[in-house]
Amino acid sequence: MDDRTSLIELRGIGEKTQKLFQKLDIDTVGDLVRHYPRAYEEYGEPLLIQQAKPGTVCAIRACVTGIPNLRRIKGLSILNISVRDASGGMLLTYYNMPYMKSILKSGGFYIFRGLVQAKGKAKVMEQPRLFSLTDYADRMRCIQPKYALTKGLTNQVLQKAVRQALSAYEFEEEYYPKWILGNYGLIPYREALCSIHFPQDVPALQKGHRRLAFDEFFQFLLVLRQNKGKLSSLPNAYPMRDASWADRFLESLSFSLTGAQRRVWEEIRQDLSGPRCMNRLIQGDVGSGKTIIAVLALLTCVQNGFQGALMAPTEVLAAQHFETIVRYTKQYGLPFRPVLLVGSLGAKERREAYRRLEDGDANLAIGTHAVIQEKVSFHSLALVVTDEQHRFGVRQRERLADKGGTPHVLVMSATPIPRTLAIILYGDLNLSVIDELPADRHPIKNCVVDASYRPKAYEFIARQVAAGRQAYVICPMVEEGEMDGVENVAEYAEKLRLALPDSIRVASLHGRMRPQDKNRIMEEFASGSIQVLVSTTVVEVGINVPNATVMMVENAERFGLAQLHQLRGRVGRGAHQSYCIFLSAIQNKETMERLEILNHSNDGFQIASEDLRLRGPGDLFGVRQSGEFSFRIGDIYADASLLGQASEAVERLLEEDPALEAPANALLRRHLERIASVGVDFRSI
Ligand code: ADP
Ligand code: MG
Repeated sequence: MDDRTSLIELRGIGEKTQKLFQKLDIDTVGDLVRHYPRAYEEYGEPLLIQQAKPGTVCAIRACVTGIPNLRRIKGLSILNISVRDASGGMLLTYYNMPYMKSILKSGGFYIFRGLVQAKGKAKVMEQPRLFSLTDYADRMRCIQPKYALTKGLTNQVLQKAVRQALSAYEFEEEYYPKWILGNYGLIPYREALCSIHFPQDVPALQKGHRRLAFDEFFQFLLVLRQNKGKLSSLPNAYPMRDASWADRFLESLSFSLTGAQRRVWEEIRQDLSGPRCMNRLIQGDVGSGKTIIAVLALLTCVQNGFQGALMAPTEVLAAQHFETIVRYTKQYGLPFRPVLLVGSLGAKERREAYRRLEDGDANLAIGTHAVIQEKVSFHSLALVVTDEQHRFGVRQRERLADKGGTPHVLVMSATPIPRTLAIILYGDLNLSVIDELPADRHPIKNCVVDASYRPKAYEFIARQVAAGRQAYVICPMVEEGEMDGVENVAEYAEKLRLALPDSIRVASLHGRMRPQDKNRIMEEFASGSIQVLVSTTVVEVGINVPNATVMMVENAERFGLAQLHQLRGRVGRGAHQSYCIFLSAIQNKETMERLEILNHSNDGFQIASEDLRLRGPGDLFGVRQSGEFSFRIGDIYADASLLGQASEAVERLLEEDPALEAPANALLRRHLERIASVGVDFRSI
């Protein structure tokens, strides 16, 4: 079996299961072995009930006392069971699992594992997982992987399939030259892959993580370095010498640029009129005002008779940019003739947009990178701006350069990383930093609270809405039942509707919705006809609704701080005071301390590094800063030093053997060709 083998070849996987795997983008055995666990669980020794702390997940070994009590309320069945051990008693509750009543024998001993909660003086567990004593002893022996799942596919089925795939997968011969393995302490790929799925212990897991993250960084940086050579020597094929429209536009704009914005705009202007093709990254924290810089560059582009493109990672964001530019065009009489290009466009409109770009009738394409890159041919494309770059890869950038000559490229990112890291990760780009926020902003008020604060938070939202404002509520994921206690968007919106006054319109938004529906909801939220938006992190990237003043995040402990900071950046974008409410279901000291960082800082760079310092490097059980640079396994914060090492290895390798022609590098070269051909891990590259 290899990377291309279909899943159906595995025992126990029929067409139905295959379809479920497809929902997770797993089509082949290769995809499956690279579906790394999302988290791990250690099954510790069962605790005495007295030791079980509310707010923590643990196991207890207890005896069922009395007769389980089964009630039905409005179609919901509730089963209450009292258990006890030598130290005390606990109440267990199961919802819609009436059959547990016959499984649990009065007087029998079992192991229950779940989140301990306090109800008054009593301790309770809801929906604890049940184990026999021997089953539990088995699990205690090794660390359990937890996978990203989809409805109908359990963690157990996934574990079994991965085990089978790993034993049948044909591994390549070691491809790194000896000095790389030795200098950076890398274990063989096979061992790393087995350890990442089924680690014997924490050190084994760390070693596996190290090898796989190194691989990912190394491959990414190698492509980046090879591109750099190509890009930095390109001449300026589209010189833009006249920027008088931009000057006039700035004079009539209702605000004036910050010093940092002005500096960055000047750098771009120099690039556009200079001798070389521009390849520049603007890095600026959320709300620092990157969009206006893009508008100035695009305006200069069309003024000089060329076409520009503005690409965003999501349809919602693309549509928002389109509206902004249309508004500016009308208000200030700008020479833009923009078209919107997104997947949900009807066939006829789309053909029309293509035609207008091809014959030059339109001079600006705004859309998602997928649509613009794949389908459009331009009349005279001279500038490409990509917003929120971390969702765009190096290879995509390369492909873009193939579109009609060599346009200038401007990349905008809010990923908070220190300069040293930025230089590695964006090695092929020149760097401009906007390190100043517009002066009119009120600092956002933050609070970190536990779940008991929820009713108060709802009241607060209701009051803000009554005052004409809007609110976001973020839940971690869409699928049901993936994690106990994790709020689910659709259900949550339902509950919230009941809790808020009827006059408030609540809608939900998540990544699995059809793009048309997402756009519609976002538009209604932007126009104010929806007041409360319950969402997954799809709103994380770039959305600008200045009237929204509340950001409430459920299960905040599940997010990386950098990501929470991005979410917070969705509010505080207008003249009204804004608020963030981070709700944490887990109240241990470490979690609260981590979240408290957000209270004390508004600086994305600082937040990410503090988070890293608190968690310590290589914290594999910690929260990934997902959303940033979609590496599958490497985390640019937690693995920052490994990233530096991979960069060093790439430098040395290319210095010694730029085209990888030496016999010692033959296997590496073959490996790189192979992964390029099967598309391995190129989601991140
Ligand atoms: P981001 O950098 O997160 O992409 P945006 O470009 O969306 O931020 O800007 C956020 C808001 O700030 C927008 O409403 C924008 O019009 C406004 N803005 C941008 N620059 C300034 C400025 N210099 N002064 C006041 N408001 C500004
Ligand atoms: Mg933005």
